[in-house]
Amino acid sequence: MKIAVLPGDGIGTEIVAEAVKVLNVLGLKFEMESALVGGVAYDAFGHPLPEATLKLAMASDAVLFGAVGDWKYDKLDRPLRPEQAILGLRKNMGLFANFRPAICYEELVGASSLKPELIAGLDILIIRELTGDIYFGQPRGRRIATDGHFPGAEEAFDTMRYSRPEIERIAHVAFQAARKRHKRVTSVDKANVLETFQFWKDVVTDVHAQYPDVALDHMYVDNAAMQLVKEPKRFDVVVTGNMFGDILSDEASMLTGSIGMLPSASLNTKNQGLYEPSHGSAPDIAGKGIANPLATILSAAMMLRFSLNQEEAAVRIETAVKKVLAQGLRTADIYSPGTNKVSTAQMGDAVVNALR
Ligand code: NAD
Repeated sequence: MKIAVLPGDGIGTEIVAEAVKVLNVLGLKFEMESALVGGVAYDAFGHPLPEATLKLAMASDAVLFGAVGDWKYDKLDRPLRPEQAILGLRKNMGLFANFRPAICYEELVGASSLKPELIAGLDILIIRELTGDIYFGQPRGRRIATDGHFPGAEEAFDTMRYSRPEIERIAHVAFQAARKRHKRVTSVDKANVLETFQFWKDVVTDVHAQYPDVALDHMYVDNAAMQLVKEPKRFDVVVTGNMFGDILSDEASMLTGSIGMLPSASLNTKNQGLYEPSHGSAPDIAGKGIANPLATILSAAMMLRFSLNQEEAAVRIETAVKKVLAQGLRTADIYSPGTNKVSTAQMGDAVVNALR
């Protein structure tokens, strides 16, 4: 089992160090190799995704990723910005399926801006298609309009498109994930307005014929955005395209109120994957030892489950995380009066102890 460890920038190094600590006490044999990515890679090699880092990632079963980015790189040309490293890894590794669970831990119910009864026990899995849709469709660009409301004016345009195989493979991923959960899939589209998403709906319906044990419903994206805050527990697995998934997965993650708790996984057809917390590099708190490492530790659990076939070890980590929360340990972002405030390293150590 080979893991590429790419901590990146800002709090990335601090939180990944804790996840590595946790992986090291599981009694499993991993080959772990680290490399630079993001801003630190740009500083060292002039590129956010150096050739050697990409090569290491491609040759590994899984990538454990921290976060990239810092405001000091905002003036660089777009292809050299730290965030391009993630896009490069997604593209080169063919990571088409993004998993973003939104789980509300009992102890953190108070951290959400929604009423406790709406989110207590929440456990949703958003599956976002990651390599197609309007984010990648060609043609795109700027030009002088020859028709439309203002012929002769400057305009910009993008292309929304999905092919049948692209929709089929993400639909299979969603139905198979639902089989391991509560066997319900909600496919989110905008079939009432967009041809691409009428096609999406038709193809998802076709694939569903192979999964008679899983219930499927369809929902327009505007309604889904509403239902996520009105009655989030109605969802089990949500599957949608790249753009709608981008927006809805952030909305769903915020239901739990604590960005430092949310893991994510991006997988290709061979179950090779990139595992990272849902948050960024948090330059505002980098180096202070106060970042929450649990999203990264939970991402490592997803890595064990999806890419390394170690379900039991994954469950052990998730149980250990619940245990430290039940013990009242909290990093600053999830702290509330009456609980015990700990540092990044103390939280990592507590998970390690809970595992032992
Ligand atoms: P961010 O997610 O880094 O931070 C948002 C807020 O959440 C900050 O106040 C931060 O302190 C807090 N926060 C984030 N993670 C935390 C944790 N583990 N524990 C405690 N608090 C935490 O988003 P941002 O500030 O908008 O972006 C900062 C940089 O990160 C930018 O350069 C951005 O481009 C980059 N970014 C990278 C990724 C990625 O690597 N996947 C994702 C999003 C943003």
